[in-house]
Parts: sequence; C-alpha cells; structure tokens
Amino acid sequence: MDIASACLIGQKCRYNGQAATDAKLKQLYEQGKVIPVCPELLAGYTTPRNPCEITLGQGSDVLSGKATVVDIDGIDQTAEFIKGAELTLELAQSHNAKRAYLKSQSPSCGCGEIYDGSFSGDLRQGDGVTTALLKQNGIKVVEV
Ligand code: SF4
Repeated sequence: MDIASACLIGQKCRYNGQAATDAKLKQLYEQGKVIPVCPELLAGYTTPRNPCEITLGQGSDVLSGKATVVDIDGIDQTAEFIKGAELTLELAQSHNAKRAYLKSQSPSCGCGEIYDGSFSGDLRQGDGVTTALLKQNGIKVVEV
C-alpha cells in the first residue's frame, strides 16, 4: 500500500501544530488506500517544534554527509532527520509501497523544491531528506 505525509491527510503534525489537509488524499486514507506517516514524528519530535531547514544542499547531500539540517536556533538536527527518513523507508518497504505522496517544500517531505536554509521563506531546487532516501530506493514520490 502507498504512503502519504500524515499532515496531508489531516494530522496536526507540522512544526507549527497545523495540518496541511489535501481533500483527495484524505479521501484515499478514508478508503484505506494510503498509510499516513510523519518522518519527523517517527524521529521523535513532538508538535509544535522549531522549524528546520537544510543548509548548503538538499536531502541527498544530507544523506551523503555533505549538508546538514539545522533548526531556527542553529542547532544541528541532521541525525534526527536521517533517522526519520530511514524509519519511513522501513515502513514503506514493509507495506511494499510503490508510491509516496509527500508534502511540498518540507525539509523531510519536500520534492523538487525546499526552503533554502536561510529561514527567510526563499526556496531552492531539491528534495527533502525522506524524499531523497525513498527515491534512492525506487519509490516514486508525488509532490502534493
Ligand atoms: S515531516 Fe512530512 S508528514 Fe511530517 S509534518 Fe512535515 S511535511 Fe508533514
């Protein structure tokens, strides 16, 4: 079964305590067709929490040790984000997921575009850490 960012199906798990509900995905969830997952909660974070961004790179750079994830106070959160990505991959593989519907622009779930690490709202091209790991393992990521 495919997976989806938990915030898209209505769970209030974003850093600011909000959801980012997508009506179509919520419906798929209610029909039992997707499994919700939040990589950041899997990593042990609670809600609300400090926003985080990837500095000097994107998700694949974090996985290869060339970039880091920091929170808005400048504290390194790289290990937690990698842990969340690995646990999400484990969950996806255990359900034989072929596809992941993930929330745009997030440092975990973003696909194609993420915040640039300056906490100014500016974006750069690239994927979040979880998205990068899922793609590296053959799971198709659909940006929502
Ligand atoms: S980590 Fe992904 S699922 Fe969790 S709140 Fe952020 S965007 Fe949503």
